[in-house]
Amino acid sequence: MGKAFDIGLEALTGVRVSNRAGVDRATTGDLSDAEKRPVGHPPEGNGQTFYLETFGCQMNEHDSEKVAGVLLARGYRQVESVEAADVVLYNTCSIREKAAQKVFSRLGEWRPEVVRARVEEAAQHTRFSEAETQIPFSKTEGEAPRAPSKQDQQPAMGGPMNGHAISDSAYQGTKTAGRTEVARPAVRREKVIGVLGCVAQQEGEKIFARAPWVSLVCGSASYRRLPELIRELERGNRRVTGLDTDTDETFETEITRRDNPWRAYLTIIEGCDKACSYCVVPFTRGPERSRTSAAILEEVRQLADAGYTEVQLLGQTVNSYKDPSARKMRFSELLVGVAEVPGIRRVRFTTSHPRDFGKDIVEAIEAVPAICEHVHLPVQSGSTRVLRVMARTYSREEYLEKIALIRGAKRAISVTTDLIVGFPGETENDFGETLSLLDAVQYDGAFCFKYSPRPNTPSLKMEEDAIPEEEKARRLAVLIEKQREIQRARNEKLVGETLEVLVEGKSKKLHPAGIRVSQWSGHTSSNKVMNFTSRREESLGDYVRVKVTGVTPNSLIGEVASDD
Ligand code: SF4
Repeated sequence: MGKAFDIGLEALTGVRVSNRAGVDRATTGDLSDAEKRPVGHPPEGNGQTFYLETFGCQMNEHDSEKVAGVLLARGYRQVESVEAADVVLYNTCSIREKAAQKVFSRLGEWRPEVVRARVEEAAQHTRFSEAETQIPFSKTEGEAPRAPSKQDQQPAMGGPMNGHAISDSAYQGTKTAGRTEVARPAVRREKVIGVLGCVAQQEGEKIFARAPWVSLVCGSASYRRLPELIRELERGNRRVTGLDTDTDETFETEITRRDNPWRAYLTIIEGCDKACSYCVVPFTRGPERSRTSAAILEEVRQLADAGYTEVQLLGQTVNSYKDPSARKMRFSELLVGVAEVPGIRRVRFTTSHPRDFGKDIVEAIEAVPAICEHVHLPVQSGSTRVLRVMARTYSREEYLEKIALIRGAKRAISVTTDLIVGFPGETENDFGETLSLLDAVQYDGAFCFKYSPRPNTPSLKMEEDAIPEEEKARRLAVLIEKQREIQRARNEKLVGETLEVLVEGKSKKLHPAGIRVSQWSGHTSSNKVMNFTSRREESLGDYVRVKVTGVTPNSLIGEVASDD
């Protein structure tokens, strides 16, 4: 799911019209926890549990996989509900106002009076049927549903983790019994609440004033210090912060808990030096820092050994990668190096910055079939005047030169983008240029957003030129509609073609004859979502050849090719 402002945002409040995002887990079946694979070997448990909720982009999703790895390495166990957790972490996003608000609303759920109300509500339901004590209050990793354990039932008299904790017995559940009732044991547990990521960096210690029950505030540029911060919490420190952005280090972990069993994400460059006038990322994630090519290739080898066939290299500006080692591997060479690791069948990368996008990347895609035929190249506006005010460092014409490189390739490469409408001062003429850019480029997908002013950004001072909300909404609707038409037309050109698809999901669909048939889904190399049928039972994680028989603006429809 990679997503916007060069960091891919479809998980946010923008509107998704692209095929670029991941398969919808709701329609394809969630992965079981057992399917989520940590790379590395978690040690014995320490009896403590954590819950981690992630907001925002793919970079955040992957940061969370690594944060989870840090905790697993310390013996914590991940659980899927806040109620069952000793440590509750929110990995936050502040790229749009709504995303930041969501985090404070989550923190509000830990306000003492709210917790008290939950406790009281739970106390009113102290008698449960024997059967209901089996209800999975916490369905934990790879486990069948379980009843509260002996450990769950201990009174909250402090535990190994004595941060600024919240006693919460609300997770006793509220269901009442219908059958043989037994007294439900009092369940109390202390919780540590932590805020990670962009909102943590942006708000800093102000979070403690707004939500005094929070114990940990840590921005992503300080994640390398997480083991030390967690140690401080374990020692009973009530307020722990990691807010330093002045670093040249990257976040390396021994263990990464991966949420997708087929596609492994790998951050190769952190931070951003580009300073676009609307973007909080340089402020929240710090300067660009690249990992060494040797460390990246070693991780890819480990992933291949663990059974992954697809890797996606991540960075806010992934193609600005600069190998800090003596090897000085260029980004395009790194792509080839990753693709050549035995067992790796697909290599993706996101997000590219137009300024650093060169012919060598196109040549690498042309030469190496394992490098996927897809480039996400955010343009943000079709107007050179607006691009200049956005400080995007390229003009419309320069951007179109990069597109010409891609379109001139020997392989057909799909192109997707991010677009912002209603940037301060954007005239009707500027907006018209964005629409005409869609005609010129013919994107395969676009993530379209209304401009949203963010703290600490230069464009915040341009509010006198602000575009009214209704006008922003109108422009967004026009843009989306136009892009939908383009996508449908581009997808229609693929009808009759046979494309390779990684099988990532399965769902049941009602056939016109009234019988339920299995429908499968996955992505093509060009990152289009393919929903397809097959006469046989497919295996998730396999690659199959699918003939395109129909389209929607956002996906292809097909059936497994008869000769496959
Ligand atoms: S500042 Fe960096 S992350 Fe933000 S939009 Fe610009 S290039 Fe992308």
